[in-house]
Amino acid sequence: MKYKTSYHVHTTYCDGKNTAHEMVLAAIDKGFTHLGFASHGPVGVHHTEDMLMKKEAFGAYKNEVLRLQQDYKDKIEILLGLEYDCYEGEGMAKEIAPEELDFFILSIHSLGVGKDKRPIDCSAKEMEELIALADGDVREVVRRYYALLGSQAIKESAPIIGHIDIIKKNNVGNKFFNEKENWYLDIVEQCAKQIKQAGSVVEINTGGVVRYGKECLYPSDEILEMLRDMKIDLMLNSDAHKAENIDFYYEEMMQKMKDMHIKNLTIRTKDGWETHEIG
Ligand SMILES: [Zn+2]
Ligand SMILES: [Zn+2]
Repeated sequence: MKYKTSYHVHTTYCDGKNTAHEMVLAAIDKGFTHLGFASHGPVGVHHTEDMLMKKEAFGAYKNEVLRLQQDYKDKIEILLGLEYDCYEGEGMAKEIAPEELDFFILSIHSLGVGKDKRPIDCSAKEMEELIALADGDVREVVRRYYALLGSQAIKESAPIIGHIDIIKKNNVGNKFFNEKENWYLDIVEQCAKQIKQAGSVVEINTGGVVRYGKECLYPSDEILEMLRDMKIDLMLNSDAHKAENIDFYYEEMMQKMKDMHIKNLTIRTKDGWETHEIG
């Protein structure tokens, strides 16, 4: 691997278990060429838990990342980013201006508005509640998820799309819907067209695998093949919340990409975006 990268790592500034410095040391140890920090960004009124960064903490986060960038510039290229949350009815929570960052990841972690808001990546019970609130129509919940993702990708010119099919997080064993059925893949394709129009890069996110197993690799094989065929740019990210997981499932994923005839990966450098042949 000529370039080894992850632009999606968390730290103790949000729900990560290690400091930014520890993440840098782990990345250097594992031979990374680039490391992008993407703590969960502040989300204003939605801030109910400690898993998200507080707005007041952004200055310290930025200073620390920039200091590490300087201190380790001979060993690794470090970039400053955030993972921004999107909400139905409101869009992306930009408490911190994107101009402050090298990049951002657009992600959805919840659906619904007000008292009907539920996380989509926590328990199956909350997914059940979301479906019940949609009069039992799981397809409607799925449709709303991808509609929000696609429309916000365009609206925000999102550089990176986070865990594109995280709506399946609680769908292990096809508990709620069948991810191989046409209605589902048609909805995903509509979203992928918007992502293509936005010019966003879609991450292959291995962070779910370490926590929940291979069925939580984002995206699924079917969606990855779709993105490949649509020539949408891809990047490999670990979404690591612990230093030890900074390159979890990377070797397997590199092999998988070769098997799937995925030939290129996109990286972000201090000079901009580059797409390279995997080699
Ligand atoms: Zn996320
Ligand atoms: Zn994340």
